[in-house]
Amino acid sequence: MGKILCVLYDDPMDGYPPAYARDTIPTLEHYPDGQSLPTPQHIDFTPGHLLGCVSGELGLRQFVEEQGHTLIVTADKEGPDSVFEKELPDADIVISQPFWPAYLTAERIAKAKKLKLAITAGIGSDHVDLQAAIEKGITVAEVTYCNSHSVAEHNVMMILALARNYLPSYQWVMQKGWNIADCVARAYDIEGMTVGIVGAGRIGLATLKRLKPFDVKLHYTDRHRLSAQVEKELGLTFHPTVADMVPRCDIVALCCPLHPETEHLFNDKLLSKMKRGAYLVNTARGKLCDRDAVVRALESGQLAGYAGDVWFPQPAPQDHPWRTMSHHGMTPHVAGTTLSAQARYAAGVREILECWFEERPIREEYLIVDKSKLAGVGAHSYTVTKDVEEAYQG
Ligand code: NDP
Repeated sequence: MGKILCVLYDDPMDGYPPAYARDTIPTLEHYPDGQSLPTPQHIDFTPGHLLGCVSGELGLRQFVEEQGHTLIVTADKEGPDSVFEKELPDADIVISQPFWPAYLTAERIAKAKKLKLAITAGIGSDHVDLQAAIEKGITVAEVTYCNSHSVAEHNVMMILALARNYLPSYQWVMQKGWNIADCVARAYDIEGMTVGIVGAGRIGLATLKRLKPFDVKLHYTDRHRLSAQVEKELGLTFHPTVADMVPRCDIVALCCPLHPETEHLFNDKLLSKMKRGAYLVNTARGKLCDRDAVVRALESGQLAGYAGDVWFPQPAPQDHPWRTMSHHGMTPHVAGTTLSAQARYAAGVREILECWFEERPIREEYLIVDKSKLAGVGAHSYTVTKDVEEAYQG
């Protein structure tokens, strides 16, 4: 009998369950690279229902309790008196989502004497101190690919919203206005523009594919070049460095992980190399950008707009300048937690737990840390940083 501690975001303000806008979600067969969707033996939830909040419980309660384990679900994750901190010392498994990350710092990991498995319900385990997990023999796993296309769609939405000045135009409608000139004084078509993607992995490549029909010029930079065939199909121009690429771009979208090489990559220096009036979209991680440099670039007009889905820390404090800076199109961290994505990552978490309880191997593509080393996808994508410590300290 073990204890599973699951940190999820709060329920909707109007209560749970919400009234659903649609009755079903499409069934997908597999991901483009052939990887299968999550394959649990069974699920106890309805795909398309709200699973990522506290009452949704990722659809896990019945299964976990039938196995004889205890499930604690909470949104209370900050500070020494939080439910998370109090329940952690004898938890066997922690489940958390990047949208509402339970920062597993080295200090917290040291207190979690029984912790053996940390599952990310989503993609991106930078809220876990991976070095500490390696040292303590904790397995870290995430549900690779579960929401990559959700984020790619968000990228396209944000690019169009910025360039077409959608959000200010919507605000004029809400204010009962018909101020067409005010709406269009900053509105452009993206057709013919040059779009640059930083990191053409699962999200970046899916974003490139989705942008192709807009007749934009597609550029990218990555540590590894895509195949000549993919470059040809999509008409891609490769740049060996981000500094090489950004001066050419009208729009740049960040799709790379946060690690020492990419932290604060978009600082005053790099932003100054961009075209005046470029748009920057960041759905990857808040710390890829220097927070105040972005604000300055918007104020000076160097950037015409910034839209992002990711902040540091999360949740962002009420006075975070990205809430109020000019020409922004920020969302709280939601891109990868649509109802569609939730069904996939809830099933993925269930699959990981089934494997764990039955002592079957977790799929390589889900592993970040295993047997005291970076493993699976983690060995390819991750390096160890101090971000988790800093986030916890605020
Ligand atoms: P992948 O690992 O599939 O792709 C990341 C790509 O970035 C890889 O091709 C990698 O190169 C490349 N890369 C790494 N470092 C650099 C660098 N210094 N310069 C250029 N490219 C680099 O990850 P995903 O596409 O699945 O996810 C990307 C990011 O999106 C992650 O950080 C994740 O945390 C975030 N994310 C955000 C979500 C949201 O809801 N907003 C949801 C899901 C993920 P290579 O592998 O070739 O070395």
